[in-house]
Amino acid sequence: MISDSKKFERLRDEMVKWQIENRGITNARVLNAMRTVPRHYFVSDALVDQAYGDFPLPIGEMQTISQPFIVAEMTQALELKKDDRVLEIGTGSGYQAAILSRLVFRVYTIERIFSLYKKSRQLFDSLKYHNIVSRYSDGTIRWPGEEPFNAIIVTAGAPRIPEALVSQLAVGGRMVIPVGSPISQELVRLYRDEDGIHQSVLGGCRFVKLIGEQGWKE
Ligand code: SAH
Repeated sequence: MISDSKKFERLRDEMVKWQIENRGITNARVLNAMRTVPRHYFVSDALVDQAYGDFPLPIGEMQTISQPFIVAEMTQALELKKDDRVLEIGTGSGYQAAILSRLVFRVYTIERIFSLYKKSRQLFDSLKYHNIVSRYSDGTIRWPGEEPFNAIIVTAGAPRIPEALVSQLAVGGRMVIPVGSPISQELVRLYRDEDGIHQSVLGGCRFVKLIGEQGWKE
């Protein structure tokens, strides 16, 4: 594994300053997590030099690691607290889960492609991110025994909001999910209180497809 040298620390500081703070992300804990997690570990060796660029990158299996800004934007929108339990659908490289793991008590992350599940699990273990629980499954169905979650983040584009996910959201819980067509979506934020579910739209985005029982059919 490539080590985390001063050079990468500097690239991370610049990434946070120019791509993230500069575009209006203000949550200090989120900014700190983005300065800490070695994003270059989450891409293949051939792409290490591009790891801190202002774009998504391929991670194999036709999937991508999200652009740093979108990771920060979605994370901030979850309004995380230290003792929260968070569910992520779409582990992919594991980068988003790693960021979340620095901010909350425990992260539960689900991936439907075995090779990505396995690789990200190994990385969490070698980085000693012990508060991440991984699962190889279809995340559009319930994770019985662990619900409800204080926050849910879906990092793949859904045709509609999966009812199985909303039903696992605690009262006071927040959820962010890209919803729309396979080529472009809106980032939707949901909030559950005693009265029910409240929705708002954060902006446009583009994610790979959420595939599963309550997602796209392949
Ligand atoms: N959060 C990731 C982004 C990965 S891209 C990162 O930080 O790198 C989206 C991922 O969602 C892909 O790996 C894809 O395989 C996965 N995915 C798509 N549909 C899924 C489903 N129903 N359940 C679990 N994972 C799913």
